[in-house]
Amino acid sequence: MEPREKALEVHRRLLEIYGDCPKYVPKAPLDELINTILSQNTNDRNRDLAYARLRERFPTWEAVRDAPLAAVTDLIRPAGLSTTKAPRIQEALRRITAERGALNLDFLRQMPVDEARRWLTGLKGVGPKTAAIVLLFTLGMPAFPVDTHIHRVTRRLGLIPPRTSREKAHELLEALVPPRIYRAFHLNLIEHGRHTCRARRPQCESCALRDLCDARAEGVLAV
Ligand code: SF4
Repeated sequence: MEPREKALEVHRRLLEIYGDCPKYVPKAPLDELINTILSQNTNDRNRDLAYARLRERFPTWEAVRDAPLAAVTDLIRPAGLSTTKAPRIQEALRRITAERGALNLDFLRQMPVDEARRWLTGLKGVGPKTAAIVLLFTLGMPAFPVDTHIHRVTRRLGLIPPRTSREKAHELLEALVPPRIYRAFHLNLIEHGRHTCRARRPQCESCALRDLCDARAEGVLAV
């Protein structure tokens, strides 16, 4: 089966298992940007705790921007790497204010997707995954975020070549599937990576995709 056809079949089967992204609740674009910066290199629980602590102490982004760095660093400590993430968050908020005169990302709606992506990745600490999450989930733009689960699962399945970098995977997967399925495909690949196609000891025998999977056929599992 060629990759495009296989990808659509994978999507169809994952929809049967996990549904059409029932769990996702969208945030405002700027809220999602900060939330996603906090989520880097940590789990959802620690990210959510850090985000809640920050919003409780400083309810507006203007207050977060103008707060002492030490206070922001302390509040987001549960998310880890707080001495890196805190200055990046404040720097992003200052840059948005300086360039746009207001603290929101609504101006991105007026840009073509590639220009909006370039603007976001121009912020320190914002890579292709973070940018794509903001673009896809809060602005409805055609961008496909690739996290560690999606990177692993799509390489194992053979949807992208085994040595593809995570950065390159964004480009290849965006071209492989139609934008109308980006949201559900993204969320369901993550579910599959968490529950079945885990980094260690994937559940190949019970996997609904096993007959489509290159890694299983070849006995070589990318982690
Ligand atoms: S068959 Fe195994 S390696 Fe392939 S997608 Fe399923 S769990 Fe992952």
